[in-house]
Amino acid sequence: MITIRHDGCILCVGCSSVCPVNAIELVGTRMEHFPAKCIDCGLCVKGCPANVITLFKGVKSSKDLPVNAKYG
Ligand code: SF4
Ligand code: SF4
Repeated sequence: MITIRHDGCILCVGCSSVCPVNAIELVGTRMEHFPAKCIDCGLCVKGCPANVITLFKGVKSSKDLPVNAKYG
């Protein structure tokens, strides 16, 4: 799964465009991630112009993120 630092996101929807499994979508006024769909490909990380996406390979739920990982 990935995390998105929302306070730096410019809502360009680039991540949503490159995600092959529709695991990121614009919902209202913020990008939402759906970890159950994510295949950890990292394309969204490379495609984010604001560098606000972090990939946590093998993590399937926000409750399993490292304690210092930002997730919102
Ligand atoms: S890591 Fe890949 S599958 Fe997961 S949200 Fe990013 S682009 Fe989509
Ligand atoms: S690519 Fe980065 S800046 Fe653009 S919407 Fe996604 S998280 Fe936000």
